[in-house]
Amino acid sequence: MDNFWQRLLVGPAVVGGASLIAWVAFGGTAGLLTLSALLVALLAHDLRNLAALYRWLQRPDPLRMPATTGLWDHLFAHLYRLTRAQARNQEELAVALRRFREAATVFPDGIVILDAQDRIQWCNPTAAKHLGIDPRLDVGQQITRLVRHPRLVEYLDAQNYREPLVIRLERDLPLTAAIQLIPYGDTEKLLISRDITSLERAETVRRDFVANVSHELRTPLTVVAGFLENLADGPGMDPEMQRRALDLLRQQTQRMQRLVEDLLVLSQLEDTRNPLREERVDVPELLRLLYHEAQSLSAGRHRIGLEIKTGAGLLGSAEELRSAFSNLVSNAIRYTPEGGRIEIEWKEEGSELVFSVQDTGIGIEAHHIPRLTERFYRVDRSRSRETGGTGLGLAIVKHVLSRHQGMLEIESEVGKGSRFSARFPEARRLPQKASALVSRAGVA
Ligand code: ADP
Repeated sequence: MDNFWQRLLVGPAVVGGASLIAWVAFGGTAGLLTLSALLVALLAHDLRNLAALYRWLQRPDPLRMPATTGLWDHLFAHLYRLTRAQARNQEELAVALRRFREAATVFPDGIVILDAQDRIQWCNPTAAKHLGIDPRLDVGQQITRLVRHPRLVEYLDAQNYREPLVIRLERDLPLTAAIQLIPYGDTEKLLISRDITSLERAETVRRDFVANVSHELRTPLTVVAGFLENLADGPGMDPEMQRRALDLLRQQTQRMQRLVEDLLVLSQLEDTRNPLREERVDVPELLRLLYHEAQSLSAGRHRIGLEIKTGAGLLGSAEELRSAFSNLVSNAIRYTPEGGRIEIEWKEEGSELVFSVQDTGIGIEAHHIPRLTERFYRVDRSRSRETGGTGLGLAIVKHVLSRHQGMLEIESEVGKGSRFSARFPEARRLPQKASALVSRAGVA
């Protein structure tokens, strides 16, 4: 600014000075003529620069500043600095915006910017997916026109956004979303949508589980409580009645005991802080033990066979593997009527090791098979209870196998029987023991 006036006055000063000199040297007419000529020249110079400024303002480009002199040069230098600063700001803004968009694109939650009338200003791809918004076509549309859910309308109208709104949306796959509104600026709002489908599913599983456990415990507890009440009312119970009541009492107590034991096993298997023990498990030896247990469980009602086709062992938890194999064997006995056959087998199939139990029992209808490993899922509730089942056996098997990177395979035909196979990958295989003998026991 300091030399602005100097630069502004230099032109008029030169015009004035030259005219004065002409006046003194050549007289008044010459002075006036010089003044007019120089004023016209000055005006032409300013008009030319004004035109250059006008042209430049049409397309302001700091790299194409007009070449000027004097005050105009000074003005254009200022303009140059201003446009450079503005271009830099714009660049920075564009980078910030690009970064924000990139972050918003990978953000796991949906984000929608709404104006005062709840019209969509912008949304990220996750929100587009959750809420079915087309970011190119739906900008400017009211959100409630696109997400036609009465509870969303109520939520927006109530203007109480402290708690998120949980709604179910019908997308390609059903989606449960938690919607949270956050007002910002003067009138705008940020709508955040979070996919809580799996969280909700886990919560349902947890609720069902608690309900199932309570239900399982209630029946035996009712029997025990009833018996104790009878005993309190009349101590003089006839000995036969007393024997039967005690029998019932023992059965129900055992049922509760089994349930609690299975629940404890399951909770240990599900506990992520409980790492798998990597022991050298002698499977042929384990199966020989299980075979004897099966004989005593069957009490001669079935023909049981054991075929050990490989001496290979497994790397894993002996206790868990024993529990899984024993569950499969005891199921075969419990779901096979008297006179049926049960075949226990340990063999290699390709690179896998396979433990299987085949029975000639009641079999399972195909539509039940995918659900059998769910906790408390039973095909026939009363049969399971009569034979001492807790409904947790196959859930335990599934967990044990998955901790050993194994897989459970179920083949079954109603009225003919079932085969439950546990497959283990190569990585779990322990080389065959030199002493291990491939053997066969029982009836084929
Ligand atoms: P449960 O204690 O009821 O036997 P499981 O989890 O071990 O519970 O098994 C779940 C259900 O699968 C059983 O209730 C039964 O209906 C069915 N099931 C399991 N094993 C067999 C089998 N070998 N033959 C027929 N049905 C079976």
